[in-house]
Formats: sequence, structure tokens, C-alpha cells
Amino acid sequence: MTVNLLDFDLEGLTAFCEQLGEKRFRAVQLFRWIHQKGASRFDEMSDLAKSLREKLPSVCSISGLPVLSRQDSADGTIKWLFDVGDGNAVETVFIPEDDRGTLCVSSQAGCAVGCRFCSTGHQGFSRNLTTGEILAQLWHAEHFLRQHLKSSERVVTNVVMMGMGEPLQNYSALVPALRAMLDDHGYGLSRRRVTVSTSGVVPMIDRLAKDCPVALAVSLHAPNDQLRDVLVPINRKYPIAELLDACLRYLPAAPRDFITFEYCMLDGVNDQPEHAAQLLDLVRHHGGQGVPCKFNLIPFNPFPDSGLKCSPRPVVQAFARTLSEAGIVTTVRKTRGDDIDAACGQLAGDVMDRTQVARRIAAAQPIRFVHPAKE
Ligand code: SAH
Ligand code: SF4
Repeated sequence: MTVNLLDFDLEGLTAFCEQLGEKRFRAVQLFRWIHQKGASRFDEMSDLAKSLREKLPSVCSISGLPVLSRQDSADGTIKWLFDVGDGNAVETVFIPEDDRGTLCVSSQAGCAVGCRFCSTGHQGFSRNLTTGEILAQLWHAEHFLRQHLKSSERVVTNVVMMGMGEPLQNYSALVPALRAMLDDHGYGLSRRRVTVSTSGVVPMIDRLAKDCPVALAVSLHAPNDQLRDVLVPINRKYPIAELLDACLRYLPAAPRDFITFEYCMLDGVNDQPEHAAQLLDLVRHHGGQGVPCKFNLIPFNPFPDSGLKCSPRPVVQAFARTLSEAGIVTTVRKTRGDDIDAACGQLAGDVMDRTQVARRIAAAQPIRFVHPAKE
């Protein structure tokens, strides 16, 4: 098997070129052809020395992912299903808005965290994606969209690692992919336009701050450990207080001066006024000074057999009002790509479960509403 150049950030590509006896500027040229121009063949790289163009195909390739399907939503959202081999497939979603184009990228085939309200979590876990498989989603989407929209400008302006998988459980593949997204010779995205969303892998939040600080979104979903233990099982390992400490440590390195907390609104489970009050208490007082944050409330997107319902609209709105009136910027996420099941938490791809996650979730007790005051 030859080396796939999509597996490298610029530093990695430079090292690879050096092994071939080529100088760094050759790596920069190659990197630009691949990521800025979307090249997949060496013979189109007109400014590369002919001898190099002829040598490269025998030692490496630029291999994207086979597209199993593409679905276009009435609202402009586009969802791709990419084949990652061995019966696994992952999904990527493009969400156009007036002032930006956001690509929601997957990091794993499945996910081992097993959140109760997440379709990916219910599927279990197969494997980590490689750097090349993570970048191939952006590479394909960007260059497909440029052609499709006849645009010579960048189309994907923001990347959110909010597709399938827990990005911080695939750290070593994630970081070079992020670096290629940020690199001026790659996609040139600013750190604030690349967001890693995590269920709360505390040690990796600390490492990300050092290795590649980008915008951080934390999937909170519950205001107390008892409830979060059930909804986001990784909480049993890294409880809320430790998670918020990690958020505070991350902020000095972060490109934004706040953390985004995501909160999936589940009818009768985590959406009561008491939960909002507990949340406020947490983020205003944790560590003495509180955690600078914004809230993004995500109406639960149902999927078969979840056993959960979305909070009614007035409940979501009342919850948002409570947080806003306390001075915390709170948005309610609009659902996009409804007609193609491209909304948050609906990405299921196709995963060969190699763990017990799916079985464990299926066997779990139904979630009952626990009144915070009685905990
Ligand atoms: N594993 C990471 C990123 C992928 S999930 C994480 O959990 O943060 C992206 C976001 O969608 C997370 O906030 C996740 O909790 C949320 N989500 C998952 N399932 C959902 C569902 N069915 N409805 C609404 N949001 C959901
Ligand atoms: Fe994994 Fe995120 Fe889904 Fe939880 S919400 S199961 S961490 S993808």
C-alpha cells in the first residue's frame, strides 16, 4: 500500500518529501495542489519538476473516500455518506448560511461513548478514522462544492467536529487534520472557525490547549452528575466539576474567550426550570468565578428506538429565557437538513459494532425524570 498524502499536515508532508530527497518548498507546492486546488493526480501539478511528478505515483497517492451517496436537502444542506471500508460508512454534512458555510465532519466510525440520545452512540463503535479519512471529508466537500456552485472562492468557511464520533478519543489523527485545516497553505481557516466538540475527555482537552487550540464546544446536556452519568456515560470517569476545571484551563489558550456548552433538550429529562437553575449555579459559581460560556440548546432530534422525545417548543424557549435573563448568551439551534436526516445526532452512517456499546444501551433502563431537588 502506498502512502496517502491526505494523511499529512504540512510538517508530515515535509518529512515525507525529505525522505525522497526533496526540499521543503516542494512539500508546500504539493500541499497547495492537494488542499487548495483539490488535485488528485500528480500529472496536473504543472509547476512541479517533471522528474518528481513521474516519481510520486510509485510511492504515494492522493486518495479520497468513495462516496456511497449524496443527499441534497430542500434547505441547501448536503449530506455525504463515505465508504471507509469493512462495511463501515461515515457521514459529513454541509450547512450553508447567508454569511458562512459550515462542514460537520466525522472523526470515528461509530462512537464508544454511548450517549443515550445519540444515534451514532446507539450504533456502537468500529474504529478511529485516520487523518486522511478526516481530511478527505473536507477535501471532497470543498472541491465538490466549488465546482457545483461554480465558485473560485472558499466555500467551507467553518468546520465543526460534530459528525460521528468523539474527536478527542481519536486525538493523534485529529491534530494533524486540524493543522491542515488551519494551515495557510491548506484550507487557511482561522482557529475560531474550527470547532472541536467533545463529550468531555478531560486529559485531551488539556493536550489540545497545548497542541492545537481551536474553538471548544462541550456537550454538557445535564446540570448534575447523577443525570449526566446516565445521559453522557463518560461523565462517570470525568465528572462535571473536573470537566469545568478543564474548560477553565483551556480558556487562556482558546481563540475565543468563552466555551460553548451544548445542551440537548430532552422532554421531561433535563429541561425543567430546576435544571436551568442548577446550570446557572454551576457556570456562574464554579471555581469561584464561574466559567465564561455561551449555551447552545439543541432540540433533540429523534431517531428510531431512542425512547426519548424532544422538549416542547415553549419549554425550550422558557429554558433559553432563564439562561439569557441571567446574562448568558443562549441560542437555540435551528434544525437543518430535516428531510435528509442530517440533523445533530441523526448521523448514523453504517457501523460494524466491535464493542458492547450498542448492546449496553439497548439493555439500559428507560430514563426517568429525576427532580434535581430530590437528588
Ligand atoms: N462526540 C462529540 C461530537 C459529535 S456529537 C460530542 O458529543 O460533543 C455533536 C453534538 O450533537 C453533540 O453536542 C451531541 O451531544 C449532539 N447530539 C447527539 N445526538 C443528538 C440528538 N439526537 N439530537 C440533538 N443533538 C444531538
Ligand atoms: Fe459519541 Fe458525541 Fe454521540 Fe455521545 S453525542 S455518543 S460522544 S458522538
